[in-house]
Amino acid sequence: MKRIGLLTSGGDAPGMNAAIRAVVRTAIYYGMEVYGIERGYAGLIEDRMEKMEMRTVSDIVHRGGTKLRTARCLEMLTKEGQEQAVATLRRRGIEGLVVIGGDGSFRGAKCLTENYGIPTIGIPGTIDNDLEYTDYTLGFDTAVNTCIEVINKLRDTMNSHERISVVQVMGRHCGDIALYAGITSGAEIIVVPEIPYKMEDVISRIKRSREGGKHSNIIVIAEGVMSAEEFTKQLQSLTKYSVRATNIGHIQRGGSPSMADRMLAAQFGNKAVRLLKDGIGNRVVGIRNNQIIDMDIIEAVSMEKRFNYELYETLQMISL
Ligand code: ATP
Repeated sequence: MKRIGLLTSGGDAPGMNAAIRAVVRTAIYYGMEVYGIERGYAGLIEDRMEKMEMRTVSDIVHRGGTKLRTARCLEMLTKEGQEQAVATLRRRGIEGLVVIGGDGSFRGAKCLTENYGIPTIGIPGTIDNDLEYTDYTLGFDTAVNTCIEVINKLRDTMNSHERISVVQVMGRHCGDIALYAGITSGAEIIVVPEIPYKMEDVISRIKRSREGGKHSNIIVIAEGVMSAEEFTKQLQSLTKYSVRATNIGHIQRGGSPSMADRMLAAQFGNKAVRLLKDGIGNRVVGIRNNQIIDMDIIEAVSMEKRFNYELYETLQMISL
C-alpha cells in the first residue's frame, strides 16, 4: 500500500493529535504517503485533504483537540454520501484509510470496508471509554484526570461549607468516566446509567458518611442519567444539607493528553499503519491486558459494553 488517508471523526479526545503524528510518521517510515482529511467524513465527501509530511505533525504531541478537526456528518449515513466518499478515495488513489473516532466513526469505516472493499483501520479515540473490545480508549485517561482536578477543587469548598456537590461528567450512555473519576477522587456516590439508583439510598449513604465524621460529600453523576442540576433539585427537596450542582462540560474534552494517552496514541497509530502496510484492513486496534491488539471491525462494533461492577463495589466499600 503506497497511499493512505487519515481522518478524525465524532467527538474530539485528547491524544488524537498524538495519534495523527504516530500514523503520519510511521507511514513515512515505511515509504507511504499520508493524506490528512479535514473534518472527518464530511471532508472525505467534499474532498478536503492535504498531504502530510514529517513536519506537518511537529509540535502537536502535547496538544488536545485534533489538528485535522472533526465533525459529525449525517451524509455519511446515506448511500449517496458513502459513494461520494469512495469516489474521493478512488480519485485520489488512496488505498487504505485510518479512522480515529468512537463507535459511530467505526460504523462508517465498517461500511466503507464491507460495502466498497476499502481497507480501513479504526483507532478508538473517544473520552467515553464505551468500546467493549478495548480496555481503554484514547482520551479517557486525560478526561478522567481533568474531572479529578475539578473534584479536588470542589471538595475544598464543599468541606468549608459542609455541602454536597453533585458533579456531572460526560460519557453518553457509559458510566466509565463517572466510575473512574469517582473512585479516584474519593466521591462517596456515583450515579451511572448502568445501575438504577434510589434517592433514599443516596440519602442514607450521605447520612452514614456524616455520622462517620465527614463534612462534605461528592456525588458524581454521568450525563446519561440526568443533569447535575436536575439531580440537585431532587436531592435538595429531600435533605437539609446544602447541595450544589456543577457540570464539568467540555473542559473534560480538552487539554494536554496524559502520559497514558500519549503512549496509547503512539502505539495505536503505529500499529494501524503496520497493519495497512501488510495489506491488512477491516480491523480496529486497541489495548487489552496491557497488550496492543487488533480485531475485526465488525466483531468489535457488535460487542456490548460491560460495566465493571467490581470497581463499583470497591468504591462502595472504600469511599465512605
Ligand atoms: P464519540 O463516541 O466521541 O461521540 P463517535 O465516533 O461515536 O464518537 P458519532 O457522532 O456517533 O461519534 O459518529 C461520527 C460520525 O461517523 C457520524 O457523524 C457519521 O458521519 C459516521 N457514522 C456514524 N454511524 C454511521 C453508520 N452507521 N454508517 C456510516 N457512517 C456512520
